[in-house]
Amino acid sequence: NAYAIKADKTVDSVCPYCGVGCQLTYHVKDNTIVRVEGRDGPANHERLCVKGRFGFDYVSNPQRLTKPLIRRADAPKHAEFKVDPLKWDEVFREATWEEALDYAANGLKKVRDTVGPSALAGFGSAKGSNEEAYLFQKLVRTGFGTNNVDHCTRLCHASSVVALLEGVGSGAVSNQVSDVEFAEVIFLIGSNPTSNHPVAATWIKNATRRGAKLIVADPRKTEIARHAWRNLQFTADTDVALLNAMIYTILEENLCDPEFIRTRTTGFEALKENSKGFSPEVMGPICGIPAETIRECARAYATSKASIILWGMGISQHVHGTDNARCLIALTLMTGQIGKPGSGLHPLRGQNNVQGASDAGLIPMMYPDYQRVDNPDAIARFEKFWNRTLDHKPGLTVVEIMDAACEGKIRGMYVMGENPAMSDPNAHHAREGLANLDCLVVQDIFLTETAYLADVVLPASAWPEKTGTVTNTDRMVQMGRRALDMPGDARQDLIIIQQLANRLGCGWDYKGPESGVAEVYDEMRRAMNNITGITWDRVEAQSSVTYPCRTEDDPGQSVVFVDAFPTKDGKARFVPADLIPANERPDAEYPFVLITGRQLEHWHTGSMTRRASVLDALEPQAVCSIHPLDLDAIGAVAGDTITVASRRGEIALVARVDDGTPRQTVFIPFAFYEAAANQLTNPALDPFGKIAEVKYCAVKVSKGGTR
Ligand code: SF4
Repeated sequence: NAYAIKADKTVDSVCPYCGVGCQLTYHVKDNTIVRVEGRDGPANHERLCVKGRFGFDYVSNPQRLTKPLIRRADAPKHAEFKVDPLKWDEVFREATWEEALDYAANGLKKVRDTVGPSALAGFGSAKGSNEEAYLFQKLVRTGFGTNNVDHCTRLCHASSVVALLEGVGSGAVSNQVSDVEFAEVIFLIGSNPTSNHPVAATWIKNATRRGAKLIVADPRKTEIARHAWRNLQFTADTDVALLNAMIYTILEENLCDPEFIRTRTTGFEALKENSKGFSPEVMGPICGIPAETIRECARAYATSKASIILWGMGISQHVHGTDNARCLIALTLMTGQIGKPGSGLHPLRGQNNVQGASDAGLIPMMYPDYQRVDNPDAIARFEKFWNRTLDHKPGLTVVEIMDAACEGKIRGMYVMGENPAMSDPNAHHAREGLANLDCLVVQDIFLTETAYLADVVLPASAWPEKTGTVTNTDRMVQMGRRALDMPGDARQDLIIIQQLANRLGCGWDYKGPESGVAEVYDEMRRAMNNITGITWDRVEAQSSVTYPCRTEDDPGQSVVFVDAFPTKDGKARFVPADLIPANERPDAEYPFVLITGRQLEHWHTGSMTRRASVLDALEPQAVCSIHPLDLDAIGAVAGDTITVASRRGEIALVARVDDGTPRQTVFIPFAFYEAAANQLTNPALDPFGKIAEVKYCAVKVSKGGTR
């Protein structure tokens, strides 16, 4: 009984999983976490979900990396390579830190100096701290000499961020999740928060209890639909049709806010023009939603005193992801439902620090604080700030980097805390790219599927083993504190980045406790106007401060866009969207639609949660959710093995009956190596956000298969 164990110490920190950013306390005995309790943080008020409360013992899993590893000269390196944690020493030999760091740096340097900086790339992590993200992108930009640096935001909300930056001038949320308390209407689309943002879901459910109308729009009927005033289980891939029908209704029924449109926006005429032809009566049959229901929802949204929109990957992970988000932004602008408590836009961020990593410049087209790498003023500023000549053209994104690796154009990579062999679309192709590299350096806490293809593996620190800040979906900069010592020879990520950087000629000298983390943060603060007022000491003292925060006595702004938008003219911009179909539609050969996503108990590629004993016990194997009538039609029953195949691969996994999954559709979480959903997914990209369409591709389903 964990509650009977008397801890040696308690350490206050933040949950390492989702973007909600729940504050928690580790109870530690003999350098082991024995239990976790929720703290009274602004995002969670003592609440935790199953991952935050029970998903901590991955830290002490015997598979933790404890020594640097170098690939044996005769070890095979190919995309089909099978992971066997017990036989790692057939692939790698142990090395000293000096040898491994020299080997890694020399491999990267050789590519840089012989092929050129643009043949290098780096994937940083949204699982690490802000300081790690900042130093990682600084290393790639100043040490490698390229903007080829990205991270999982490219598989997450990149399309939302593009739409938000062009529409309202800022890629972050306008209102915090807790603002649902002030909303009369909550429009939740393409999101399953009960699984993916569980504590955020509790605030939404609480709001419905006090009378808020919840409109849920999702092709799958998920748990939160039980709390909905209207549940729109629309046909997958018809988001723009549904949202434009709502826009049409608001225009036709004169439910706009003309004063807001006149004083705060531009481009309304183009939206009006575009909306012709999108009547609910025409779009309803396309979306599978009755016209009158669409009209009811549009009226409720437009006429309430305060309406808020929250969305997830169901919006962003499409070839029309940016268009989906443009429609959501148009809804808020035409009705004036933004810039006040309970009214606004909230893309629910996935990873615990995807907001912070993006803010810190871990993206190929932006320096820290979203300053474009091709903007002469920004270039001049950062060349002076970092004392280096910088690459002036935007770098490649995640999927583009993998394509370039397959083509031999990217020859060396540094991957910190990401697992593209599992997380990238068309995973076999991604693994081919990784296997094709002259030099792959992987820094992680486990020998992940990606690490198995590395030339050098650097054993890193888990979240409870380091101190640093993270920024949650609400724009709260929060403090994570070190609770444990690292196992074996594992090192702090911030130290490893610095040691590698200095071998590449960066000449950094960050001093101070915890690998100089406070000095790195202070440098970030000088580079990023939004957090100027948030000193290290302030985060340390308050545990959480919201940006924008420009001075040290600024309390931070929880609601933004109150008087103006952060655009050149202070106005927001309507960008109309037309119908663009999914890149790969079902046909006679592949008649089903595959939707991928997460489940409550497992996090992304499973490297942490599948090594957390409670979570692994709750969901130990890969499952495929399928409608009972579809399962019956292939002659199978719940628990049978079924095979799901696309044009890119096939996987066998256990069938789980789910009447919330629509007919001719399957849902598969992407956490399971032995049945990796991303072996099936389509790498077709949204042209603006460069995000892959992992929420929709054509598959076929049959009974049987080998698991
Ligand atoms: Fe952690 Fe998210 Fe769960 Fe909170 S809701 S405990 S941040 S996984």
